[in-house]
Amino acid sequence: MNDLEIAKQIQLKHISTIAEKLGLNSDDIEMYGKYKAKLPHSVIDKDKANKSNLILVTAISPTPAGEGKTTMSIGLSEGLNQLGKQTTVVLREPSLGPVFGIKGGATGGGYSQVLPMEDINLHFTGDFSAIEKAHNLLSAVIDNNIQSKTNSLGIDARTVTWKRVMDMNDRALRHIIVGLGGTTSGVPRETGFDITAASEIMAILCLADDLENLKERLGNIFIGYTFDKKPIYAKDLKVEGAMAALLKDAVKPNLVQTIEGNPAIIHGGPFANIAQGTNSVIATRMGMSLSDYTVTEAGFGADLGAEKFLDIKCQSAGISPKAIVITTTIRALKYHGGADLKSLTDPNVEALKNGIPNLEKHLENVKQFGITPVIAINRFVSDSDEEIAAIQEFAKRNNVRVALAEVWAKGGKGALELAKHVVEIVESGESNFTPLYNWETDVTAKIETIATKIYGANRVDYTAKAKKNLKTIAALGLENLPVCIAKTQKSLSDNPKLIGRPKNFTITIREIEIAAGAGFLVPITGDMMRMPGLPAHPASENINIDNDGNITGLF
Ligand code: ADP
Ligand code: MG
Repeated sequence: MNDLEIAKQIQLKHISTIAEKLGLNSDDIEMYGKYKAKLPHSVIDKDKANKSNLILVTAISPTPAGEGKTTMSIGLSEGLNQLGKQTTVVLREPSLGPVFGIKGGATGGGYSQVLPMEDINLHFTGDFSAIEKAHNLLSAVIDNNIQSKTNSLGIDARTVTWKRVMDMNDRALRHIIVGLGGTTSGVPRETGFDITAASEIMAILCLADDLENLKERLGNIFIGYTFDKKPIYAKDLKVEGAMAALLKDAVKPNLVQTIEGNPAIIHGGPFANIAQGTNSVIATRMGMSLSDYTVTEAGFGADLGAEKFLDIKCQSAGISPKAIVITTTIRALKYHGGADLKSLTDPNVEALKNGIPNLEKHLENVKQFGITPVIAINRFVSDSDEEIAAIQEFAKRNNVRVALAEVWAKGGKGALELAKHVVEIVESGESNFTPLYNWETDVTAKIETIATKIYGANRVDYTAKAKKNLKTIAALGLENLPVCIAKTQKSLSDNPKLIGRPKNFTITIREIEIAAGAGFLVPITGDMMRMPGLPAHPASENINIDNDGNITGLF
């Protein structure tokens, strides 16, 4: 059975029943039909949140298919609930780009899913659309101001970095010219589209504390310069109020349910290679306010999502995880050991062992933050006992906790061993979060700390453009912002071809973008794509709906 077929077999509970598990009655929530609801900010209780146990799920460097962090997070939360620990899983919202592209949706898989998966994967409660509208309102206002004679800020159109966004993989929109058609249709200038998950508004929504803070961050968005080199921010266009108004519902987390009828909070969806890669601070705080255990996910490998989660989100929100789960698949380890992508389902202990240094590096990285890791082997039907044993032996030799997790095949029952490890780590109180760097240090020092300590690089090179960006950042007084490095997820380095645990490499910073609203700088390595393309055979070819409204082909 595929994910959607499994999902359809489940008799969904009314969302008010799920809310009751969080101690909320139906008046406390805003229902979107029978199976979805928005949660108001008033349910956040910071004292309660401080006492709650946050568990972060991350992974080794993934193959293009994803290694199962979302699936593992959901399964682990079911397992913890089965152990009697009241647990909520808090996740990101899926982007339509991957849904119609290669990877598919982001609602877990097998018997560890959040439901209703058709809704969550397609539009959901409209948060992405609202983010898109807020983003594009600012774009429209910028072009309008460039056009205006009576209200001109004197913006130099050639310096405007703010683009437009759409939640679609549409490479044809990467570079466009707007303002064609004569004097009444705007001033022609080159710009482009990014995918909505890459919008700074998405990053802002996910770091904001509340509506007031959201508005302040929106106002701080850096747009470009005037002809006399004065920086222009969104607040100079008096647009942050209207943008925040468009986001009034999007800023509230969404409540849904897992296959086993436990609560799941889903909110925000920045990617982890170009942004911070984790759900909203508000949603995490809400999970922590309403439950004893909160399980959450950070995107891609621990070099990207987990590093940003810990250095940006945790530092900014004043929270920290008590345990970190490193999702590991046998197929990805074989890939890092040199096996061909097409042969990853064939048993190959040799390749697996050669790939283990990738896992080893991610374990070291998690420990650098003072948090105890546990390896979760995400079991696939193609895994051989010998391959599983090789990882278990590695863990034993290195004194690291390991659990075979069969969350995809068995749901919470398949996560009990993992859940017990997590509870033991939490109850031991042994984790003691220490951020990797201090926000107050130099921008280059922050970049170099991440590059050498987390990626394993020897040194960092800066292009002439990046050096110029550093000067701009200093001139704008933004040196104290944390850095959110944009890097490929395929390698610990900035070269996707360097698999395993690369050594003796240089990280090249091509340019540094300013996300003053979100509150971080984005040093860009390699060719980072903010508007992905579709494959030759997009997943959309298989998606359909019948006359009764039954959807097929989503995964
Ligand atoms: P991530 O969050 O790490 O990107 P997901 O949890 O979204 O990964 O999983 C990626 C895909 O792999 C999903 O389609 C999911 O159904 C599938 N998957 C995950 N774990 C397993 C497993 N153990 N066996 C088979 N398929 C799996
Ligand atoms: Mg995921």
